[in-house]
Amino acid sequence: MSLSQHIFHFTILGALWGALVLSKSLEVTEKNEDKKEAKFSFMNYKLVDVIPKDQNQLKDLRTLESINVVGVDFWAEPAQVDQTISLSVEPEVYKTLENFLDQRNIQHNTKVTNLQELIDDEMKSILKEDLDDFGYRDPSLSYYDAKSYNRLNQITTHLREIQKQDDSQSMSISSIGTTFEGRPIEMVTLSRSEDSAKTDKPIIWMDCGIHSREWVSPSFCIFTIKELLAEGEAGLLRKFDFFIVPVANPDGYVYSWDVNRMWRKNRRTPAAMMLRSGDDQVSVEIQKTRRSLEVIDYNLDEELGIEGGFLSTEAETKFTKDNISLKQFWPGSVFPGFPQAPQSGGFPSWGGSGNQWSQSVQSNPKCTGVDPNRNFDIAWAKVGSSNSICQDTFHGPKAFSEAETVAIRDIILNTQTSGREFASFLSVHAYSQFWMSPYGFKKIRSSDYFDQSRVMKKAVEALRQVYGTSFQHGPINEVIYLASGSSVDWAYEKAGINYSYALELRDQGKYGFLLPVDQIEPTNTETYAGLKAMGWEIAKEYS
Ligand SMILES: [Zn+2]
Repeated sequence: MSLSQHIFHFTILGALWGALVLSKSLEVTEKNEDKKEAKFSFMNYKLVDVIPKDQNQLKDLRTLESINVVGVDFWAEPAQVDQTISLSVEPEVYKTLENFLDQRNIQHNTKVTNLQELIDDEMKSILKEDLDDFGYRDPSLSYYDAKSYNRLNQITTHLREIQKQDDSQSMSISSIGTTFEGRPIEMVTLSRSEDSAKTDKPIIWMDCGIHSREWVSPSFCIFTIKELLAEGEAGLLRKFDFFIVPVANPDGYVYSWDVNRMWRKNRRTPAAMMLRSGDDQVSVEIQKTRRSLEVIDYNLDEELGIEGGFLSTEAETKFTKDNISLKQFWPGSVFPGFPQAPQSGGFPSWGGSGNQWSQSVQSNPKCTGVDPNRNFDIAWAKVGSSNSICQDTFHGPKAFSEAETVAIRDIILNTQTSGREFASFLSVHAYSQFWMSPYGFKKIRSSDYFDQSRVMKKAVEALRQVYGTSFQHGPINEVIYLASGSSVDWAYEKAGINYSYALELRDQGKYGFLLPVDQIEPTNTETYAGLKAMGWEIAKEYS
């Protein structure tokens, strides 16, 4: 289908809503002003553990994931035979899924029959942790609780408290970008100030929480900041500066607390994705409210123009030239794929809420946001990422279309341009207990794998020594499967940072994203031991 046909289809759909207005008008700059969204309920959602026993079953599960069925959320990738993965399943598609698994003799076990109960339990334990032994909050204390999960405002406040208490004045906080919802993306810089040679120190990068539901990840970044400062000159700060982004996806993080505990992506709305056509900043379209199509203004640059309601040929040419693939994010093209039509090869027709036409892209709460960790300019929009905005691995309208990824790219490249070197790049996720190196986007080992592997071994061995927790290590494509557009591949391949790693912290799936609060400190302690071992191993190259 050509672009103009897409536009045509979109226009027809818009007309059906009876609300499409085609006019040249001033750019609308107002922000979304929706009422606060009600909490998303996981009432009667199931958690199903699935164990592929051979390559065929593994392949079937991967296909199931890749065809973007509605109502099944893969909490982990189908990676290896005999490795259990958890699927979160909408009650409406539960039977269909069971049949699917039974027909293929895929072992499965429904371990949770009401996911909402687990989420409620987690919140109860967080609130309990907030209270002192007598059941009160001490107002003189920070609300940040290292033994618990913390909201974004608790984290940002706490960072400033840490900074204030740091006599060595090694810590600074800066904003490296602004999110779609207007929040700063904050970065902590740690650099021993009494050391005159400090600007020559190589830098270790660490970002946490780029996937918002992985709550233990930001907690690890903050733990690391405090430990590094406490160790001072005796620790890794003697050898390295640190750039640490504790919450790399703040909009998603807030949303995971306020609305949907299982939110992974950022919070860009579909219409906002059409707002700009790249570096030339041409507005294409804007919606006035988050999911309302009441008023749509085409707002094209003079040189582009519209012809009878459709984009002109010049516009199409220009978008092609600028490498903007409109069809990937134009709603008209998302509709046919949502819900996913049954595929050939015996895949069943899926029921569930997504199957109703009325639940359009605009009104389905899942059809918002981009996965920042599929948005980097490395094999962008290829294997292991989704074309559909309704999916958790949506790669976005183009590489680096997102504030979160641009922020990381720019601070790294600009710092390198200023003559400084990154010794390592760590992106911290949860869960699965993996320490992984490039590549994710292709099935080969990197030419630096020997060194990458040597350092990983040191890290996971030190980590294991603390509590016996075992981490698998290796290239992403071997440990999990193929995934394109990830930060670690970009950092290694495009920014040339040799020791680029993606970490997946505890656990191995028993609790998954809902890791109990009493595991936060042990998780942080052991992972920090791994980080230190990694740092000292890399430091040998700089002595
Ligand atoms: Zn993640």
